[in-house]
Amino acid sequence: SLFRDLYASSELKIGKKFDKSFQLYFVKMNALAATSRNFKKAAKLLGLDSKLERSLLIPFREIKVECTIPKDDGSLASFVGFRVQHDNARGPMKGGIRYHPEAVQVFKGMVFRDVFTWSSMVDGYWKNGMVLEARQAFEAMQVKNVVSWTAMIQGYAKIRDLEEDMSEVPGGSALAGVSGGSAPGTKFWELSMRLTPHSELRNCASEALLRLHEANFMEIQVDPDEVNALAQLMTWKTAVANIPYGGAKGGIGCAPGELSLSELERLTRVFTQKIHDLIGIHTDVPAPDMGTNPQTMAWILDEYSKFHGYSPAVVTGKPVDLGGSLGRDAATGRGVLFATQALLAEYGKSISDQRFVIQGFGNVGSWAAILISEAGGKVVAISDASGAVKNSSGLDIEKLHKYSIENRGVKGFSGGDLADPNSILTEDCDVLIPAALGGVINRENANDIRAKFIIEAANHPTDPEADEILSRKGVIILPDIFANSGGVTVSYFEWVQNIQGFMWDEEKVNSELRTYILKGFKNVKDMCKTHYCDLRMGAFTLGVNRVARATVLRGWGA
Ligand code: GLU
Repeated sequence: SLFRDLYASSELKIGKKFDKSFQLYFVKMNALAATSRNFKKAAKLLGLDSKLERSLLIPFREIKVECTIPKDDGSLASFVGFRVQHDNARGPMKGGIRYHPEAVQVFKGMVFRDVFTWSSMVDGYWKNGMVLEARQAFEAMQVKNVVSWTAMIQGYAKIRDLEEDMSEVPGGSALAGVSGGSAPGTKFWELSMRLTPHSELRNCASEALLRLHEANFMEIQVDPDEVNALAQLMTWKTAVANIPYGGAKGGIGCAPGELSLSELERLTRVFTQKIHDLIGIHTDVPAPDMGTNPQTMAWILDEYSKFHGYSPAVVTGKPVDLGGSLGRDAATGRGVLFATQALLAEYGKSISDQRFVIQGFGNVGSWAAILISEAGGKVVAISDASGAVKNSSGLDIEKLHKYSIENRGVKGFSGGDLADPNSILTEDCDVLIPAALGGVINRENANDIRAKFIIEAANHPTDPEADEILSRKGVIILPDIFANSGGVTVSYFEWVQNIQGFMWDEEKVNSELRTYILKGFKNVKDMCKTHYCDLRMGAFTLGVNRVARATVLRGWGA
C-alpha cells in the first residue's frame, strides 16, 4: 500500500509499537465519518428532509470536564472526562462509560467541525466542475488546524488532477501546512496519503511522519471522533431494539490498568461530581463499557446519590446487590447468541454446525464464546490483548475462560496452538465475531476474510470500505446496532426493575431478551425488504426512522 511504500522509503527508525499502531491508524476510517456515512445512506433511503437529517446527526450536548485526583503516592494526576449526549427524542439518553486512553480525544473532533463544512462545500464545487470556485473556497478557508491543512492538501491534489497548468500548485504551502501540523497531523497525513498519491505530496507526508514521530505515541492510536460516533450508534441501537431511550456515550481518557483501585474510585467520583446534574434517571443513564464494570457503576451511583438521594436507576450494569439485574453481565453475549441463531436459521443453518472465530475475550467475547459453545458451536480460535489461541477441533471454552482469568489473558493456554492475534480475523471459519475494538475490519484485511457470516458484537468493527468489499464477496454481516443490542436491552430491564422496585428472576430476563432480539431481527428484515438493502441498512433505516418519527411528533418547540 501507499503507506508501506512511504514508510519503507522513509529513513525513520521508529519502535515496533509505534509501527503497529501507526499502520492500524492509517487503514482505519475515522469512526465518526464511518458512522455518519451509514446514517446518511439510511436517511437517503428513507427520503428524510435534509434539515431533519442534520438535526438528527448533530449531538444534543457534549460535556467535557477536567478531573484531578491525588494518586496513591500523593502526586496529582489530571484526566479529561466527557459525555456525549447524542439524542433524546425517544427517551432518556443511554450508553456506556469507557475508560481508555483514546477517550480523551473525543473533543478534539469538535474543533474540526466547522472545517468539515468547508470541505463539503469545496467538494460540491469539485463535483460540479467548478474548479475556480473550489479554489477560492480553499483560499478563504482559515488554515489554522490540521483538518484545514488536510482539506487544503486534498484540494491542491485535486487541482492538479483537474487543471492542465500545474505550475501554480503550491506544494510549498502544503509542506508549510505539514510543518504546522505537529502531533494532530496524523489526520492530515492519513487523508492526504489516502487521497493524493503525488510524489510532491508524498514528500510532505514524509515530513509529517517525522513530526509524528516526535509527538506522543498515544496520540497516534487515537481516533478523535470515536466516542461521538459511539454516542450516535447508541441512538440508533436503542431505537432498533425498540426500548424507550436515546443515545449517549462517555468516558475518561485514562489507562485503567495503570491505576490502583482506590485511584479509579477517586477518579470515578470526581467525574460523577462534575456531571451529576447532567445525568439522571429520566435524562441520561450511564452503563459499563470498555474499561469499566459493575464496581464503577456502584461508585457513580453512590456519588450521584449524595447529591440527589438514593437513585439506583441512574446507572445500569450495577452489581446485583445494589439493584443490578440478574443476567445483565451475560446479556450482550447472550444477545449475540440469539441474534446469531436467528440469522443462521434464515440460511437453514444452526450454531451446532458452524465453526466460530472470536476476536476479544472480555465481557462480550467471553460470554458469547461460553454460550455459543454451550449451544454446540465449535469455537476454533480466540484472541485478546495478550495473544491468540486456536484449535481446529474446538477450544474448551470453560477451561480457557478459567485460564484467562488466572493468567490475565488467553496467551499460553495449553488446550490449543499459539495463533497470531493480528491474523485472527482471517482465520478459516464459518462465523466471525469481532468483539473488541472498532474499525478492525477495514480495506486492508476485508478481502482476506474467510467467514461466511460476521456478527458484530463490538461497536462499529467494520469500516464502510470493508462493508463494500465484503458485500461483493457475498459475506453476510449482522450489524452492531442490532447484534450487540442485548446489553442495552437488559440495561433497560434493569432500569424498569429499579423503577418498579421489583426484581425479575434470570429466566424472565433471558426470555424477555430473546423476545426483543427476535422481534428486532424481524423488524430489520422487514426494512431490508422495504428498501432492498443489506442488514446494516435494514438496521439503520429501522433505527433512524423511529428516531425521526419521534422527533417530528415532538416538534421543535419553536
Ligand atoms: N456499553 C454498552 C453498549 O455499547 C451498553 C450500554 C448500556 O447498557 O447502556 O451497548
